[in-house]
This record gives sequence, structure tokens and C-alpha cells, in this order.
Amino acid sequence: MSLKVYNTATRSLEDFVPLNEGAVGVYACGPTIYNHAHIGNFRTFLFFDLVHRHLEWSGYEVRFVMNLTDVDDKVIEAAHAAGTTIDEHTAPFGDTFLADCATLGVRTVDSYPRATRYIEPMVDFITRLIENGHAYPADDGAVYFSISSFPEYGKLKGIDTSTLISGARVEHDEYEKEDARDFALWKAATEEDEAVGAAWDSPWGLGRPGWHLECSVMSTTELGDTLDLHLGGEDLVFPHHENEIAQSEGATGHPFVRYWMHVKHLFVEGRKMSKSLGNFIRVRDLLEEGYDPAAIRHLLVSSHYRGDLNFTREGLKASGAAVQRLLDFEARLVDLQTDDVAEESALPDLAATVVVGFRTAMDDDFNSADALGVVFGFVTRVNAELDARGTVSAADRDAALEALRSMDQVLGLLEVAHTSRTVDDDLATWVEQMIEERAAARASKDFARADAIRDELAEKNIVLEDGAGGTRWKVVG
Ligand code: AMP
Ligand code: ZN
Repeated sequence: MSLKVYNTATRSLEDFVPLNEGAVGVYACGPTIYNHAHIGNFRTFLFFDLVHRHLEWSGYEVRFVMNLTDVDDKVIEAAHAAGTTIDEHTAPFGDTFLADCATLGVRTVDSYPRATRYIEPMVDFITRLIENGHAYPADDGAVYFSISSFPEYGKLKGIDTSTLISGARVEHDEYEKEDARDFALWKAATEEDEAVGAAWDSPWGLGRPGWHLECSVMSTTELGDTLDLHLGGEDLVFPHHENEIAQSEGATGHPFVRYWMHVKHLFVEGRKMSKSLGNFIRVRDLLEEGYDPAAIRHLLVSSHYRGDLNFTREGLKASGAAVQRLLDFEARLVDLQTDDVAEESALPDLAATVVVGFRTAMDDDFNSADALGVVFGFVTRVNAELDARGTVSAADRDAALEALRSMDQVLGLLEVAHTSRTVDDDLATWVEQMIEERAAARASKDFARADAIRDELAEKNIVLEDGAGGTRWKVVG
């Protein structure tokens, strides 16, 4: 068994072999912190997290770097519109992004480099590119990468560069592949740049870095000349990652990335997400609507990262039910009255098989959809075995519980569900009081009052279950 990944560069599934055995260096293009991240971004960030978790679960020593873009065309424009500086404008968005990551169970990574802190190495990098004949300062105060100096330009996207006009330039960070031209590594500062604090001294005068350069410099500074994995959303293949390859290989002379992986964009209610369509959804919008973070996480990882995923609120409800099924299953195992004389059940076999099946699915290009299918199949089978037997030995129960929790180190669903359901003591005391009051109301046949109490609790997502041993309660998503 070994990990296979779909490499955008070769358009094929390849065995994953890191540069140094047992260790993996990953660079992921993080958010541009000029605005709130939306749930589409989080499809991508949750995939990054699955990669991170699966590699660690598989025993690799992982160094995971995700940048925060705090200076580029979009950041400058937004800071200018807000009448502030880029530092002031980006700080709260950076904080919110990290808070949203924590809410959705995205593991902390080893480093979150910010572009504005890497200006010096960027200037050095450009200097090297000029020395190597891959870049030239132009009379507009900018420095451009000469794509004709790099014959492999276009290999990631698969662009035929033979028809390109040598020396023609593009100034903006973002453009279409039809506009492939010499692109800016460094841009002369405009008045606007200076006003928002996006201008630094350089051998080419006051200026600021191009967006593509930032990632080349931060990734190689943090991880060395060759990265094992480079991740991003599908929109970044061209020009961003194409340009990263040209810059990095032009400067270092070494292969830049062993495996490129790109996440397909999320659709919302069947359409591309955009502000103008009014379907631009942030994580906190969903939390305010009362949805559960574990349900959001489930929905966003429920489909393979290269497959379509259409976000709907119906889907989110179904994901909430799936998470609840996992929680109920875990609670059933934990609360089970075990019997040590019980003969051996099917649980140890099911537990061993499910972990193998889970690993096989995740090793198959991080197929989280299949992996979830394997987990829920296990839930069904173990539930059936418990229904049939009534009890099992503690060792058998523990085997099932251990398998479930092991797989959750990758999925993070129970983890997020438990974190978000940790109810504070005050609430617990209040719920217990309400349950007592309800029992008293029922005893005196005041059923209207008893029902009103149940409804009041339900409004707070607290569900009561009456059983032989009294009333139990739980928080649901
Ligand atoms: P940005 O903040 O625009 O730089 O985007 C951050 C990350 O989210 C990048 O890797 C993008 O490719 C990715 N991304 C942007 N929109 C979507 C979307 N609708 N679905 C999935 N990923 C996206
Ligand atoms: Zn990037």
C-alpha cells in the first residue's frame, strides 16, 4: 500500500515519493487576506487539512507551510478603498481566517509566512533572476520575468508558447492564459501603493513585489529549493503556479515541485459563488444560521477534491445528520454495558478491516468520499452486530472505538463536533433543572407545561431522550 497522488504537472496518478524518505515538505497557497474567506475557499483549506492529517497519520514527518497574502493588487485596492494601510486592513482578516480554521478543525500548520515580512529575500531572489538572465528591469521601474528565457514556460497548464510575442508584458497579477506575457516580479510604487504602506526600497527604486514572486520566495525560503507537494485551488494553475515554476527554477536551477495538486472550485446552489449572485457565503454566516461546524466540515470533505461539489443547505442538513450518526455511534460504544465472558464478536475483524479500507481510500489520491463511505459502512455493521448480540466484551468494544477514533484523526469530524458541543457548566445546570421541572409537570399531568419545556430546550438544540433510567439529553447540530 502506498500513497498515490494526481499530479497536475503530468496529468496522471503517481506514486508519492518524497525527496527525503519519511519527511514531507508541503506548501499551500493560503488566502489573500483583503476580505473574509468564503466556504469555497474552505473547500480548498479543508482539503489542505486532510492532506496534512493523512500524511501525519501515515507516519510522515510533515512540515506544512501556508502563506497569507497580505500585499498584492487586491489587498492594495481594498486598503485604499477603506482609507487605511495594508497592515491595518489585513490584520483582522488574518485573525478571522485563523479563527474560522480553528472552528472547522483545520490543524495549525508549521508556518504562516506573510509576504510583507519577506521583502528582503524577494529582492535577493529577483537579483538572482536578473543575474541568471531570466529577468530584466524595464524603463517603467518594474522588473519583469522574461518567459522566452525559460523554454519550459507553459508546461504546467499545457500552453504552447511558440506563438507568444517575446518581450510583451503584463502588469496585473491576474490574467488569462491567452495573455501569457513577461510578468512583473517587482512593480514600481504608485501613489496609491505609497499611501497604503505598500512601497519598499529596492535596487530598482521604490516598489513592491508581484504576487507570483511572493509564493516562490516564501516557499523556497521555508522549505528549500524543491518542495514535495504544492497545493492550491484550480484557479491558481495559471498564471500563478506556472509563474512560480519559472521564477523558482530560474533562480535555483533545481526542480521546484515534485507533485502539484489542485482543488476543484465549489459551487453554491448550482452556480459559481460570487458577490453579484448573492450566493457568497462565509463560515460565520452558516454558524449564525445555526449550522454546526462539524456539518460544514463534513459537507466540504464529502466529495473527492477533484470532483464537483455543490453546496446546498439541504446538503448541509444531511451532513449534520451524518455527523450525529457518528456521535451516536461513538456514544453507544462508550456507554455499552460490556460483558467479559461474552464470546468473541465480529467487532475486532470489522475494526481491522475498516482501517485498511479507510487507508486504501485515502491513499488513493485522498479520496475522502470513499473513505467516508467505508466509515459509515463500519457504523452500520457494528450497530447490526450490537443489535444482534446486545453486548460484547470490553476488548471488542475498545477495538471498534479505537478504529473509529484513529480514522477521526484524519477526518476530524468527531473532534470538531466534540469541541463545538462542549457545553459550559451553567448550561448543563440549567438543562438539568428544566428536566426536573418537566418531570414534575408530567407527574402532575400538566402536559402542556412539559411540552413547552421540551420545545424551549429544542430551541437551544437540546434534545431529550426518555428511557428506562430517566431522561438523557444531548446537543444536536
Ligand atoms: P484567495 O483568497 O482568493 O487567494 O483564495 C484562497 C484559496 O481558495 C486559493 O487556493 C483559491 O484557489 C481557493 N478558492 C477560491 N475560490 C474557491 C472556490 N469557489 N472553491 C474552492 N476553492 C476556491
Ligand atoms: Zn501562491
